[in-house]
Amino acid sequence: MTFEETTGSVLTPEAQVALDRATGSAHRHHDLLSSRAFHIKQSAVRDVFDISIQPGLVSLAGGSPYLQELPLDELADATASIIRNQGLAALQYGPGQGLAELRELACDVMAAEGILDADPADIVITTGSQSGQDVAAKVFCNPGDVVLCEDPTYVGALNTFESYEVDIQPVSMDSEGLIPEALRERISALRAAGKTIKMLYTIPSFNNPSGITLSSARRDEIVQICRENNILILEDNPYGLLRFDGEPLAPLRASHPEDVLYLGSFSKIFAPGMRLGWALVPRHLFRRFYLACEAVVLCPSPLTQMITAAYLRDFDWMSRIRDSRRLYAGRCAAMLAALQDEMPDGVSWTVPDGGFFVWVTLPEGIDTYPLLAEAIEAGTVFIPGTAFTPGDEPSSRLRLAFSAVSEEDIAEGVRRLAPVIRRALAA
Ligand code: PMP
Repeated sequence: MTFEETTGSVLTPEAQVALDRATGSAHRHHDLLSSRAFHIKQSAVRDVFDISIQPGLVSLAGGSPYLQELPLDELADATASIIRNQGLAALQYGPGQGLAELRELACDVMAAEGILDADPADIVITTGSQSGQDVAAKVFCNPGDVVLCEDPTYVGALNTFESYEVDIQPVSMDSEGLIPEALRERISALRAAGKTIKMLYTIPSFNNPSGITLSSARRDEIVQICRENNILILEDNPYGLLRFDGEPLAPLRASHPEDVLYLGSFSKIFAPGMRLGWALVPRHLFRRFYLACEAVVLCPSPLTQMITAAYLRDFDWMSRIRDSRRLYAGRCAAMLAALQDEMPDGVSWTVPDGGFFVWVTLPEGIDTYPLLAEAIEAGTVFIPGTAFTPGDEPSSRLRLAFSAVSEEDIAEGVRRLAPVIRRALAA
């Protein structure tokens, strides 16, 4: 199956409706769709995820966490015991804010990163950080409002903001993360153009897709700029504890409780299949945020919350994080070594201190999207850079994920990718 056959994603939603009409197929009720529905794009990552499971392919696309070291037998016993002993509570509706025990455990996770003053009363358990982004957009953004973000940023957040018809404005980064001067200039220009700026969405530690971390020297300055301009910071920190060496950098929220709405996730420190995360919300915003969460899901799943709480309470989760840091560090090193060995002159890449991703830059003018089909032919997959900025501008970048692939497969994947890139450079 080719890439296009698998994804069918080359048409815009409007063009798809026109085609459906012309061919007389499945257009019924399309005229009823909201304008919002047309802003929800098919995710390039999901497209490629479907392709990645083809046998024989080495996927450097999906940023899935490594789960093989989870104590599955013990988790099965813990789950059975929850259902046997607390089954009626586990299978019933629960509190809209989430279970108190899990909110307390979320405070322990945050304390490990330097947020020492979190109060479980200020936490709402979410259906993953993804749903926290959605609720934040819903609560703060009217169509046309501006959300600032890093350039590049997480594709899932872009899709969420686009679905609320937000004007997403990417701000440049360098190897130390968001550039304060670029942020100031962008805010002034947008204000001069009469725009309403609501939030800065930021992944300060091990940005997805670039792997870049905002330096500690810049952290306070970024918060200060947002405070001066009455812009809320939406800090998304699913990877913060996955620093390869040394202590994690304190999140922006650690010393700025009133300026930052913080999103945490159990996906990378436990299991994404639980679909759980949390929002630590500034007290003055809590009620609005909480009511919106409740309006979407009524309550997060009590069963998965209980299993996650049992894992954090009864297992040595910190020691598993230490093991997985070593594993990811080894895989990242394998990827950097393979890039060094295989990539031609003119190609550069980031050197992350943690997280799951390396961001590769080809010479200006080369669009990495068409290279994807060639890479699949060659037996590997990546995510083209265009997925990580708003709009459909071509990008000379691509994201490689090292988290879910063995060191041998990483080397093999990069070896397969190299000729595709060499041909593009020679063309
Ligand atoms: N934010 C970022 C930056 C991510 O990379 C991801 C997942 N890859 C998410 C949020 C979604 O996380 P969750 O599973 O908690 O919804």
